Amino acid sequence: MEPVSTRASQYAARVERRDELSPHLVRLTLAVDEGFEFTGVPDEWVGLVVPGQFQSRYYTVRSHAAGSLVLDVVVHEVGLVTEWVVREDCVGSTVTITEPKGSYELPDGAGWQLLVGDLTALPAMARIAESAALPTRVWADVQDDLADYLPAGTDVTWVDGPLSAVVEGIDWPEGDGYFWMAGESAQMRAIRKHLMRDRRLPASAYDVMGYWRESTGRQPRAVDPGPIWREGKAQGLSDEQIWAAYDEARS
Ligand SMILES: Cc1cc2nc3c(=O)[nH]c(=O)nc-3n(C[C@H](O)[C@H](O)[C@H](O)COP(=O)(O)OP(=O)(O)OC[C@H]3O[C@@H](n4cnc5c(N)ncnc54)[C@H](O)[C@@H]3O)c2cc1C
Repeated sequence: MEPVSTRASQYAARVERRDELSPHLVRLTLAVDEGFEFTGVPDEWVGLVVPGQFQSRYYTVRSHAAGSLVLDVVVHEVGLVTEWVVREDCVGSTVTITEPKGSYELPDGAGWQLLVGDLTALPAMARIAESAALPTRVWADVQDDLADYLPAGTDVTWVDGPLSAVVEGIDWPEGDGYFWMAGESAQMRAIRKHLMRDRRLPASAYDVMGYWRESTGRQPRAVDPGPIWREGKAQGLSDEQIWAAYDEARS
C-alpha cells in the first residue's frame, strides 16, 4: 500500500467580500491561489487559519468557481474565527486554507436521502440538496430566518431542537436510502448510537459528523479532521468509524 501523507496542502487565499446573510451567518468570498482543486463532494470542507492565528477551524465550501470559493461562517459567542469574521475589516485579509476533503458518500441503490443539522450544517445541506438527483428531505435547526437559503423547492422542516428528538421522530421512507447529519459532537454521538442500535442501519447508510464541541471554560481541542480522514480511509475504516475517531481525538 502506498504511504499516505497526513499533511494537507495549504494555500493562501484573499478575502474579497463579506456579506451578512443573517444575524448569525456571514458569507465570505475568497480568491484562492492557482492549483487549488475542489473535490466535487458536496459536503467538502477546508481548514481555515485566520490572520494572527495558527490553529485551523473547518468550513464547508458552500460554492466555488474558478479561483474562488464561498464559506458561510456561523457567528457565535466567542471563538477564533467568530471574533475575526464579525469585523468588516476582515475583507482584504490573507488567510490560509487547506485542500478540501469530503465525507458525503451515497450508497449504491439509495432511493432517497435525509439531511439533518444545525446552522453549521446548513451550507453542506444546501449544497447536497442542490446537487441531489433523488428525493431529499431536510430538517434544519437554525435560530435565524434563513427561509431562502436552501435551493428553491427543497422539502425542508425548520425545527427547534433537540436534534435527537427530531431524528427519533422521523417517519423513515420505505426502501434503502442515505442519512447525512452534522452538528454538536455530543449530540451526534448519541444519534449514531440510535441509528446503529435502534434503527440497525448499516454503516454505509449514514454519515453523522460532530462539527463543533459545546464547551464551557477550557477551549475544546482543535483537531484537523483531514489527517484522521486520510488515515482512516487508508485503513479501510467506514465513515462512521472515522468520525467516531475524530470525536475521540478531540475529547
Ligand atoms: C467538516 C466540518 C465542516 C464545518 N462546516 C462549517 C460551516 O460551513 N460553517 C460553520 O460556521 N461551521 C462549520 N463547522 C464548524 C466550525 O468548524 C466550528 O463551529 C468551529 O469551532 C468554529 O470556530 P470558532 O473559532 O468560531 O470557535 P472556537 O474557537 O472553535 O470555539 C470557541 C467556543 O465556541 C463554542 N462553539 C464553537 N462552535 C460553535 C457553534 N457553532 N455554536 C455555538 N458555540 C460554538 C466552543 O464550544 C467554544 O466554547 C464545520 C466543522 C467541521 C468539522
